[in-house]
Formats: sequence, C-alpha cells, structure tokens
Amino acid sequence: MNIKTKFNEELLIGLERQPTKKAVLLFSGGIDSTAAGILLKEKGYRVFPLFIDYGQSSLAAEQLVVNKIAIKLGFEPVRVITTELLKQLTKSNLLGKEAVDDSQAWVPGRNTLFMIIAGIFAKQVDADGVCIGYMLDDNFVFGDNDYFHHKNVEQLLSKSFLQPMEVFMPIVSYRKKDLVTLLMEKGLLSDTVSCWNAKVVRGKVVSCGSCANCLERNSLLVVK
Ligand SMILES: [Zn+2]
Repeated sequence: MNIKTKFNEELLIGLERQPTKKAVLLFSGGIDSTAAGILLKEKGYRVFPLFIDYGQSSLAAEQLVVNKIAIKLGFEPVRVITTELLKQLTKSNLLGKEAVDDSQAWVPGRNTLFMIIAGIFAKQVDADGVCIGYMLDDNFVFGDNDYFHHKNVEQLLSKSFLQPMEVFMPIVSYRKKDLVTLLMEKGLLSDTVSCWNAKVVRGKVVSCGSCANCLERNSLLVVK
C-alpha cells in the first residue's frame, strides 16, 4: 500500500528540504539573462546556466557568447539542451528566418516551455529554483513573459516536484537602460547578443541592425 502514501512522504521531504543556494538560469547570452545572472550571483547563488537550442535564427551567435560570459562571471559550465519541438509545432520567423518586429518574433508558449525545462534541470541539480531575465519593459508584449505568468509557473513546478521551487526574477524592477548601464559597468555589454537575426562572420557576432531588438539596443547606446 506504499503507493497511497508516496505523495505525502514526498511532500514532507520536499517541505523539510534545506535550500542549497543553487539556481538554474535560463541563459541566452542577451542583456536580460546576463544581468539576471549577475544579480543572482551577487545574492550568493551558484548559477547553473541553461542554454536552449530550439532552432533560433541567432543560434550560432548566442552559442558563441554564452560560454565566454559564463566563464567571465564564474557560472557553472553551460548546460545545452536541444529541442526541435518549437520548430515542429510553430511557424515563428524567429526559428530560422528573419524577424523584424515583436509579432514576427513571437514563439507561442516558448517561455512557459523553457521554464518547465529549466525546472526539470533544477530538480536534477537540487537547485532552489529557476531564474528568468524578466524586467519591466517586458510587460504587455508577450503573454508568457509577465510577473503573474512566472508566479504561476512557480506554483506549477512546486506542485509537480512536491517541494518549493522558486522562480527568481532579480531584474523585475529594472528597465533596459538600467541593465545596459549595469553591463557597461561590468564590461560585459559588448559580449552580449540582442539581435534576433545575429550571425557569426569570421568568428565574430554580426547584428542585423534593423530588428526591434537592434533598434532598442542602438537607441540606448546613443543616449549613453
Ligand atoms: Zn537585429
């Protein structure tokens, strides 16, 4: 009759669990996830970066920078997960074609899926939760990138694993310009990639200069 008590046993173990000060970071090598990782590390967490290869147009450029940034910031080695799921299921321009504005770059359910994947990885490495580079300017753009979405995922992961599983949002109160300033201070801004269509040419990242992310990044740099 063990099977009927397993839930309660697992839940009690989960509730008694002591925090390990480890956290899985959804890491793309962009400004937001890099800044989130910096703040998480400054709060004393061991950062386990998770890079997801889902067939994004800027894959090669992102892969080039994530390892470099992780080493500079003293993160754990970057864990790479490859999934064809989104390419098989959706038609977003972000998946291998050129994306110019938010509507072309939207991949339905991407953040939800990635947070679940990060949660599974977090469970494997006994981390206290998952961290996402969500900040103020993200509001009202995509349904799966807002505070309440992420809080719902926190509940879902905790329920699924029968233990507290936090969703860390260290840059929740930041705006993009604040993050640019933070990365400039750390000397890391030029290592990050923002462009949806970034390519690698002769070992260097080349941005398109015309997508919404490039325009935003360039406008912030001009202000500086
Ligand atoms: Zn671009």
